[in-house]
Amino acid sequence: MASIRTVKLPSGESVPALGQGTWHLGEHPSKRQDEIAALRLGLDLGLTLIDTAEMYVGAEDLIREAIGMVGRRNECFIVDKVRPSHATRRGTIQACEDSLRRLVTDRIDLYLLHWRGTVPLEETVDAFEELIDTGKIRYWGVSNFDHDDMTDLFQVPEIEPQTDQVLYNLAHRGIEWDLLPWCRSRGIPLMAYSPVEEGTLVDHPVVRRVAKRHDATPAQIAIAWVLRQPDVITIPKAGNPEHVRENRGALDIQLTSKDLRDLDDVFEPPKYKVPLDVS
Ligand code: NAP
Repeated sequence: MASIRTVKLPSGESVPALGQGTWHLGEHPSKRQDEIAALRLGLDLGLTLIDTAEMYVGAEDLIREAIGMVGRRNECFIVDKVRPSHATRRGTIQACEDSLRRLVTDRIDLYLLHWRGTVPLEETVDAFEELIDTGKIRYWGVSNFDHDDMTDLFQVPEIEPQTDQVLYNLAHRGIEWDLLPWCRSRGIPLMAYSPVEEGTLVDHPVVRRVAKRHDATPAQIAIAWVLRQPDVITIPKAGNPEHVRENRGALDIQLTSKDLRDLDDVFEPPKYKVPLDVS
């Protein structure tokens, strides 16, 4: 397996800084073979962290076919998510067992609450702890939690969430104001979703200009920008194998201070608190 830069979780385990997203994978039969090839190529290139969710219809089945059916499960670190409407104590356990069945695996490596709903956080955390005790998940974390949600979460005693998965890319930088420094001070790495802003950043003229300087592609620059911080993991989704290969190359790009200044001019860092953006 190719070696790749890693990020340490609070548990002490290291995971690849660059993984693979799966939202909308497995939805179109005509794209299935390409998507399977893309996920497998990602594994070959060291992108072994795979992000999915019970909500991503068809994605867990595709992961099973791409990975489980060819004996590659043990190479992967699988991140899955429970929907808030299922996040009661019993509902979380049921949702996890359903995901395990679709993935045909015996454990999920990191299980996240997809976003905050109405179930008390203590109850969902209790369910996560039970899932850890029974070996069905290895770790848990949250997603789409803003700074105040994290401080509420930390009212629950003796917890060790491994990440907060949030929207973070050049066009959505609000977390730099408070959430990112707060998590950093507690050693909790953020997992940035939509690093290419669902593909739209590739057309931005300044991203294109910076890409030209590096003989790189705009998508690589958008991903390299997220990865400029050593404690941020990112999970671009690519159903096209060529995109996967390209995205792996982002890890080799070192943005210069001029690149960062040019990007700051058009994608301004936050000057005050803004609520967390969600996809
Ligand atoms: P994204 O990764 O920013 O963008 C995906 C889009 O960009 C796809 O259309 C893909 O095309 C295209 N793309 C990828 N690499 C490219 C490249 N090198 N050149 C040109 N186009 C490229 O957006 P995302 O899917 O929203 O986010 C990534 C993952 O984060 C999701 O798949 C999901 O796992 C996770 N996510 C989590 C949440 C949450 O609430 N926790 C929300 C949104 C997303 P092709 O597919 O054709 O390659």
